[in-house]
Amino acid sequence: MTDQRMLTGDRPTGKLHLGHYVGSIANRVQLQHKYETFLIIADLHMLTTKNTREDIAKVSTNARDMVLDSLAAGIDPTRATYYLQSAIPEVTELNALFQNLVTVPRLERVPSLKDMARDAGKEEMPYGLLGYPVLQAADILCVKAHVVPVGKDNHAHVEVTREIARRFNYLYGETFPVPELVESEVPTLVGTDGQGKMSKSIGNVIYLSDSAEDVRKRVAGMYTDPKRIRADIPGTVEGNPVFIYHDVFNDNAAEVADLKERYRAGKVGDVEVKDKLAAAINRFLDPMRERRAHYEEQSGLVDEIIVEGTERTRREVQQVVFEARKAMGLTAAYNQLRRKAERARKSREDTTP
Ligand code: ATP
Ligand code: MG
Repeated sequence: MTDQRMLTGDRPTGKLHLGHYVGSIANRVQLQHKYETFLIIADLHMLTTKNTREDIAKVSTNARDMVLDSLAAGIDPTRATYYLQSAIPEVTELNALFQNLVTVPRLERVPSLKDMARDAGKEEMPYGLLGYPVLQAADILCVKAHVVPVGKDNHAHVEVTREIARRFNYLYGETFPVPELVESEVPTLVGTDGQGKMSKSIGNVIYLSDSAEDVRKRVAGMYTDPKRIRADIPGTVEGNPVFIYHDVFNDNAAEVADLKERYRAGKVGDVEVKDKLAAAINRFLDPMRERRAHYEEQSGLVDEIIVEGTERTRREVQQVVFEARKAMGLTAAYNQLRRKAERARKSREDTTP
């Protein structure tokens, strides 16, 4: 255990899926033993693409579901601190302080933002969405995190954080660590439709909370090699989502090698390949199902974990933001005004009988 910190998290837009697991959660579960861990429930980030009252009304339920998913995946709540972003207003203060350390053209070059705007059906970029990486810099630096395990779509954001940290330190003195990105073995998991990344907004997902039957159904509907209209036609393994998932989730390497060989030779049906994949994913999810049941049994436990974590994180953040204001000279500026105002008030009191 170092005394360094890890920060990462998710937007409370729904349940977690296998893409979240391989992109970030697997690393979190490993790294929680080495780093003091903060897990953000990024509801202010959610507002950049979903900001109706209906969306916001779902935050508490989604937050609970997400935390439950992450506990089920193996996060230890005695090690990790969960917190709700919007309940810590000091984060937005840090965001404001960071906004002038990066330029608009720099943010316009962040590729994921355009993708997010498009996926959200927005013709023009909202101001807050353009600032998504700056707010993320505030999240990461408000607890002075050293490591940030995130999926590929977030890599460019962490780069912006590093630039902001360096710029701040250069202008105002050494204050923030320059955090390291932790890449995962599977930076982007393709969706069940084989078209793009697994994403709940597209619906091409397998949720960590899916039942064994749900998993079987979703796998049965997966996209495979479209050329293969009969089982005796040789198929392509490379880039085929069914085999990508076999490689990632099937713990039986001999079975995977055998299936690939027979698939290439046109000697296995899609049904067998998919049945074995569904079974493998279910073996992978079974321990999570057990842990989930344990946490679900204790009503209110997840809520307590979030609220206690938020209170604890807020105290940390208040200190860091105070330090940032001080480094910038903002604290001194107001103190000078205050001292003079104080003196003026005093001398008036002294002269009025
Ligand atoms: P979705 O696209 O399903 O709505 P999201 O993009 O809203 O999910 P975020 O909260 O932005 O999810 O991301 C949480 C973490 O999960 C990030 O580190 C992100 O990189 C990672 N992640 C999300 N989807 C995938 C995926 N398909 N493959 C790998 N990592 C992913
Ligand atoms: Mg995302």
